[in-house]
Amino acid sequence: MTMSVEPFSRGSFHIGARISGPKGSSFTVETESNHSLDESATPWLSATLPVAMKSDIPLRLDGEVDPAALENAQNAQRILSGWYPRHYRPVAVEARTSSPGSPPQPGVGCFFSGGVDSFYSAITQHDRITHLIFVHGYDIRPDDERLGALALDSAREAAAELGKPLIEVRTTLRSDFADPLRVPWGHVFHGPALAHVATALSSHVGTVIIPSSDTYATLEPWGSHPDLDVCWSTSSVTLEHRELDADRKQKTFRIVEYPVAMNHLRVCWENKGGRLNCERCFKCFRTRLHIEFAGGDCATLPNPIDPDAVRRLYINPARRQLLRKSLVEMGRHGCDAPELERAIRSAIRRSYVLQFFPR
Ligand SMILES: [Zn+2]
Repeated sequence: MTMSVEPFSRGSFHIGARISGPKGSSFTVETESNHSLDESATPWLSATLPVAMKSDIPLRLDGEVDPAALENAQNAQRILSGWYPRHYRPVAVEARTSSPGSPPQPGVGCFFSGGVDSFYSAITQHDRITHLIFVHGYDIRPDDERLGALALDSAREAAAELGKPLIEVRTTLRSDFADPLRVPWGHVFHGPALAHVATALSSHVGTVIIPSSDTYATLEPWGSHPDLDVCWSTSSVTLEHRELDADRKQKTFRIVEYPVAMNHLRVCWENKGGRLNCERCFKCFRTRLHIEFAGGDCATLPNPIDPDAVRRLYINPARRQLLRKSLVEMGRHGCDAPELERAIRSAIRRSYVLQFFPR
């Protein structure tokens, strides 16, 4: 059995691939953009290799693949199989090697979801960045048109205020391929999926920044990681995993100084009620708390924190650690909110009990 990938294109702004997966399954993935895309097989290497590794079957790409991409992907295989030896095994990759293409473009792209990490990178790397890249289909499902349009409008306005053109991409790679095959998005696939988009944009950008969600102190095996992201680079596009020197709170403190960030921040992945931020989930709550510490005012998280909503949150062990830190910081930042403090303590206690005695 082989995972075979047959790339196709419907003009230069719309590429796709027919993929035969494990156990006779088959998939069609489509990626389109307002910018022209690489029609070769190269962007499909990062998009399919982790899945072939998980299925433990050789990968065959019917088309030409950049030679540097093929060589770098061997390192990606070493890293993934080293991190997850029971679930990801190195596999043979068969593809025709293309002749080296034109030299890399001088443009520098940066993925831009509108969250804390992407605003921080967009602000700190502002002088280098020539394009921001928004993807509909990863954190927002491709069929969620309403939220997709809302997030895209917000990203367009933010990009215009930052003075950068926005590359808009829409893809079914996650929903129609990785999710049905249960490839873990966080631990494995979101980095390779971003690399699919980055390498498809080779005629516009020669470097693409992936804003880190980790710091040097918190790095662990994760789908987007400084060691792994760079392994998806080609001879035309280099991937850079950036901004590991600031944690989420430090990043929030920096971006509250920028009205563009406070007017367009989108941190929520719960996607409830078709709003940019639900204001009920842990991510919304923690971002709101940091903005309060920094004395900021955010138009997309406008309401005061509701202690009752905090009390009801289930908080996993790693996040409980973060919240205990936040409790200490509340005093330090002059945040006098005894009811909220009680709510946080109550959520921590309740989540501890729920961890061992789930309802
Ligand atoms: Zn939320």
